[in-house]
Amino acid sequence: MHIHFHGAADTVTGSRHLVEMAGTRVLLDCGMFQGYKVLRERNWLPPAPALLGADAVVLSHAHLDHSGWLPRLVRSGFRGPIYATPATRDLAEVMLLDSARLQEEDARRANRYAYTRHDKALPLYTTADAKRAIAKIVPLSPGRELALGRVHVSLTPVGHLLGACAVTLRAGHDTLVYSGDLGRDDDLLMPAPHRVARADVLLVESTYGDRLHPRDDAMQRLGAIVRDTVARGGSVLLPSFAVGRAQALLLVLQRLKATGQIPRRLPIYLDSPMAIEATELYQRHRRLLRVAAREIATLTDGVTLVARAAQSAKLAQRHYPAVIISASGMATGGRVLHHLKTLLPDPRHHVVFAGFQVGGTRGAHLVAGAPSVKIHGEYVPARAQVSQLEVFSGHADADGVMHWLRGFDAPPRQTFVVHGEAAAADALRLRIQDELRWRVRVPPHGGRFEV
Ligand code: ZN
Repeated sequence: MHIHFHGAADTVTGSRHLVEMAGTRVLLDCGMFQGYKVLRERNWLPPAPALLGADAVVLSHAHLDHSGWLPRLVRSGFRGPIYATPATRDLAEVMLLDSARLQEEDARRANRYAYTRHDKALPLYTTADAKRAIAKIVPLSPGRELALGRVHVSLTPVGHLLGACAVTLRAGHDTLVYSGDLGRDDDLLMPAPHRVARADVLLVESTYGDRLHPRDDAMQRLGAIVRDTVARGGSVLLPSFAVGRAQALLLVLQRLKATGQIPRRLPIYLDSPMAIEATELYQRHRRLLRVAAREIATLTDGVTLVARAAQSAKLAQRHYPAVIISASGMATGGRVLHHLKTLLPDPRHHVVFAGFQVGGTRGAHLVAGAPSVKIHGEYVPARAQVSQLEVFSGHADADGVMHWLRGFDAPPRQTFVVHGEAAAADALRLRIQDELRWRVRVPPHGGRFEV
């Protein structure tokens, strides 16, 4: 078989792995590059002809770094089907439409204030492009097998995010397994990743390949932060991924209120239309979760759902203690930017990033202690307290990935470590080589391999 790494090979974003097997070409994920500008610029390059000519796309899960380039691919002429689990399809619809809207907004704002150096800013893709891509998604349930020519495709749940799966491609006796993003065994919402028994060729993610999650309790840490901040009259801002993370935060905040660890009457705002929609999807697909149905049903009880932009603008002017959950999770766009502009200059407030921050994002800058960040073309001083709670990460840490790898019956003949910053990918490569004695390498961006 032949593998060509079109993304997530030297970084954690832009997952696009083209596999050619038994005469069939399958594109595993079609993600957007995020973070450093030099990476984001790759989103504007035209898709390689080999990608446009793929027989199908198989989507591991709905996160934009895995799905966010689909509208661009379809607009450029891709004609095949896109396979994903039913839950991934539902989430991808919400996420791709939101992504298109954000890009249209950014382009409009850039043109209005002319802070772009291009002549006229254009969106990477439009809402219409996103709708065309969504219409191509065909549901494939975990455990079912689909034939694409002589290749059989199947999906195995791996926790991480509602609907997320590893992908298995099998042709005759040859099997390729792609981990997608691996969840953790102790995730708040998702069950632990299922074991996959067999792979001849394996692609495994390495987001946390060089790190272990802290063992501290998510609920205790967030509870302490909220109590301290409220006591000094400040608000807690939780920039959050709208899908998955926001629901985990709501779950913990509800438990903190129920056990009296934070004031029961403290206002909580969910300020993200996408997070509101995603919460409904988590409630609809509750059978896929590890949380009791009745707890999921009460996730938004007493929470103010801020759907309209005007309401959000008003909320940003408030000056008394509250907890605000708003997207995006790495402060790269969305309503959270207005809250950051208001809250960051005041040391009473606390901004808590609940998860991994890709290098080059505002989130990564703030977590690293930047004295100011640029928002909408102006510098905003960062005097508020800033923390990061990796306990909310949706990814397996290095031990978690190694545990999943030990579930295979026999060593794959070749393992590729993808989806990690250079240090993380290389650390995981070393552990796989030393502890498992497998043949393993980190592919370069654009690398092609015959295996
Ligand atoms: Zn993911």
